[in-house]
Amino acid sequence: MKSRAIGGCIYCGDTGELIDEHVVPFGLKGDFILTRSSCRSCADVTSAVERAVLQGHLVGPRLGIGYPTRHSSDPGAMPPYPPIIGVTAEGQRMPVSFPAGHHPTLLWSPQFEVPASISGKCVSGIVVNGVEVQQISGADITIHAKDQGFASVEFPQIAVRGYEFARMLAKIGLAFAVDCFGIDHLGSPLGATVRHENPDAGMWVGQPTACPPPIARTYEVNGGLHVVKLYAGSEIWAIIRLFAPRNTTMEYLVIVTHR
Ligand SMILES: [Zn+2]
Repeated sequence: MKSRAIGGCIYCGDTGELIDEHVVPFGLKGDFILTRSSCRSCADVTSAVERAVLQGHLVGPRLGIGYPTRHSSDPGAMPPYPPIIGVTAEGQRMPVSFPAGHHPTLLWSPQFEVPASISGKCVSGIVVNGVEVQQISGADITIHAKDQGFASVEFPQIAVRGYEFARMLAKIGLAFAVDCFGIDHLGSPLGATVRHENPDAGMWVGQPTACPPPIARTYEVNGGLHVVKLYAGSEIWAIIRLFAPRNTTMEYLVIVTHR
């Protein structure tokens, strides 16, 4: 799906040579394009941010949705992260085994605070409070672990690029808001956040709070693989859920404007 031509860079305002932007990265099967909405220099920045995330903690989930990665294009193949460890009642540890082609896919979601523009806290960058690990596809971990005599399981810990992930979320929220409300009405600080001119991602990106403004529009990316809801009142909010059909996945809030 393609938007109408935006005619200006949504990050820096440049109106020179403009290119199309995949709002949710192509590497996450994003199929919504914001037409003529980014200058080359900002596109270089957003590509680098997305690359850091897609080749970082989202490599596994990309494999799980059957998206080609440099590791494998076979959904259910061995994921590119350490094995899931089963722990016996006696405390013995060893990898849980799964049927070929049905290896569980894990999603690591950094847990942020409520955006500082709401909480009034002072931030630099963004604070990652923890990382939630969820299974998004493959064989049932609990059943297989139990069958193999394990009392519990331990998920592998991997490094999560919280700051780049937050900037990617900021980009997604800003781009859908521009599609819905137009570039002229926004006055959003997020362009500078995405471009890393203001290391203030924690001001605008975080976990949702109760009481959003009234709902304005829902975007379902790639048939609902990812869902972005826009809310508009005195502020515009975007609530983003990646890998939405796995309905346990975490939601993120982007404050698009603070009027
Ligand atoms: Zn630009």
